[in-house]
Amino acid sequence: MSDDYDAIVLGAGAAGLMCAARAGQRGLRVLVLEKADKPGRKILISGGGRCNFTNIGAGPANYLSANPHFAKSALARYTPRDFLALVESYGIAWHEKTLGQLFCDGSAQHIVDLLLAECAKGDVTIRCAQEVDQVTRTDGFCVATRIGRYTAPRLVIATGGPSIPKMGATGFAYDLARQFGLKVVEPRPALVPLTLGGEDVLFRELSGVAAPVEAHAGKTSFAEAALFTHRGLSGPAILQVSSYWKHGEPVAIDFLPQHSQDWLLEAKRGNPRSSLRGLLRDQLPQRLADTLADRIGLNGDLGNASDKALRAAQDRLRRWLFHPNGSEGFAKAEVTAGGISTAELSSQTMEAKKVPGLYAIGEAVDVTGWLGGYNFQWAWASGVACAEALDRV
Ligand code: FAD
Repeated sequence: MSDDYDAIVLGAGAAGLMCAARAGQRGLRVLVLEKADKPGRKILISGGGRCNFTNIGAGPANYLSANPHFAKSALARYTPRDFLALVESYGIAWHEKTLGQLFCDGSAQHIVDLLLAECAKGDVTIRCAQEVDQVTRTDGFCVATRIGRYTAPRLVIATGGPSIPKMGATGFAYDLARQFGLKVVEPRPALVPLTLGGEDVLFRELSGVAAPVEAHAGKTSFAEAALFTHRGLSGPAILQVSSYWKHGEPVAIDFLPQHSQDWLLEAKRGNPRSSLRGLLRDQLPQRLADTLADRIGLNGDLGNASDKALRAAQDRLRRWLFHPNGSEGFAKAEVTAGGISTAELSSQTMEAKKVPGLYAIGEAVDVTGWLGGYNFQWAWASGVACAEALDRV
């Protein structure tokens, strides 16, 4: 067995391709092994096919991790503007959709093509349809697929997390990390629709209805759209809070985030002949307005309702408690929270502290971004941090 390569990167996803390209351009001989028949498959389906490739405001506060400081160094050294400059250098047209989210004007294929062109600049070898099933370590790392065996002194785990298993996603990164004695923070589905049971089941009848809300899970809240589905709740606001939601806890929804606390009392004084149903219909989709009005049960003119009843109605609309009985799981989760423990890795280099030469990057690591381009920014930034360290060995 000869060391034909300086580094082997497992996984040709966002993080693996970025890392390989950068390392190759720094003069390393890099091999990427990918189990799918083509690279970057998750990139291709991302952002509805247009790839929300970064978020211009991405910073450490937009990530979940057992150690919220871990991502700081990598994110500071490779910023959204750095990736944007790369996108522009390839003449890829882009636009900001909302909240700093940058998308391709055209297809996500442009981002995969960019990464492959960057890899070509670094003479990176990419082998697809090569599922890695065994890694051993003697002098260096020996990686076995059904087709071949490859060795290198450095190994980068970039095989992502188990979200969307129908695309072949698995917990391989965690198995490998555990094999080398690294701890794994319990993986869980994140950015995932929540399911409703019990009394909340009635809301499933609103399937397809969306409204701008402020959704709260614990102390975290997001003001974006929520969508009712035939299984429960989805839409950006819900996907965002799902990453923070814990089983058994409620999700509180403010259906009128733009209104003052005393909105109904003010409406009563200004127009005593108005009704709750009518006012809600002015603000929200009719089916949602009617469901909320029916459940509150405050019929007739506001002028005839007591201030106490109106206060109670206001409070309920500002903090409607849903009790999700679960989520749609890894099958529908956009990302996996948890993963290879950051306590095991150097935040500067992504190298395992107790296994020199072994690195982990991207979604495989216990760093999970919000919805909106943050996860790709972590993939780029962690990939670059790792690449810059690989030739220092
Ligand atoms: P991945 O992209 O998952 O790459 C891992 C690679 O490793 C895969 O190609 C896989 O086939 C390969 N692999 C796995 N096991 C093996 C093995 N044993 N041997 C060899 N290869 C293996 N994030 C955003 O920031 N913006 C978006 O617009 C966005 N949209 C998304 C839409 C959807 C539907 C989904 C599911 C996710 C989306 N994400 C988005 C999240 C983003 O795609 C991931 O966070 C990101 O792809 C993680 O990159 P990665 O390189 O760590 O892992």
